Amino acid sequence: MRPILLRPKSRGALTLRSKDPREAPLVDVGYLTHHDDVATLVEGIKLTLALGNTSALREDIGAKFFSKPLPECASERVGSDAYWSCYVRHMSSTFYHMGGTCKMGPKSDPMAVVDHRLRVFGVSGLRVVDGSVMPFVISGNTNAPIIMIAEKAADMIKQQWA
Ligand SMILES: Cc1cc2nc3c(=O)[nH]c(=O)nc-3n(C[C@H](O)[C@H](O)[C@H](O)COP(=O)(O)OP(=O)(O)OC[C@H]3O[C@@H](n4cnc5c(N)ncnc54)[C@H](O)[C@@H]3O)c2cc1C
Repeated sequence: MRPILLRPKSRGALTLRSKDPREAPLVDVGYLTHHDDVATLVEGIKLTLALGNTSALREDIGAKFFSKPLPECASERVGSDAYWSCYVRHMSSTFYHMGGTCKMGPKSDPMAVVDHRLRVFGVSGLRVVDGSVMPFVISGNTNAPIIMIAEKAADMIKQQWA
């Protein structure tokens, strides 16, 4: 069992490295830069530990947590919020559900890149159709919803050209 952060508040950034379009952009994923994300995961760990302590899991199944203290967090008291915060920062990993770098939104939103029909503001004849248009990462796997975005975009393009 492990807690998962479904609605992170942390935000990363995608910036151009140079004027050369062939150069890969700079990706800063910004994991756990918002304190609430760490706090949420700490609460998730506590809930997970409580579940693991139920008789159904502990006695019936014989489940036990990996309890070796993390050396990187040795300066904190094991089990304290400070310890779990340190633990989260050292042990968390990603689900690779990056998105939101070209978010859909109204023209008045300075962070919006595409409109509700996925057309890029200020550039004619260009749409963005992928996970980057999601304003926020969704609380689940991204593959199927992105296929849905692509299906919707295909319908909108056909509708425009019919
Ligand atoms: C390791 C890993 C595991 C994952 N596991 C799951 C899972 O189990 N379930 C799930 O739902 N989601 C999973 N995801 C997430 C999911 O795969 C992605 O969210 C999704 O594929 C993103 O779709 P996309 O169309 O936005 O981008 P992508 O799928 O990355 O598509 C981008 C496409 O653009 C192409 N491209 C890039 N640059 C250029 C260029 N200059 N010119 C032309 N083409 C270019 C690339 O080759 C690629 O085909 C996983 C992701 C990773 C990395």
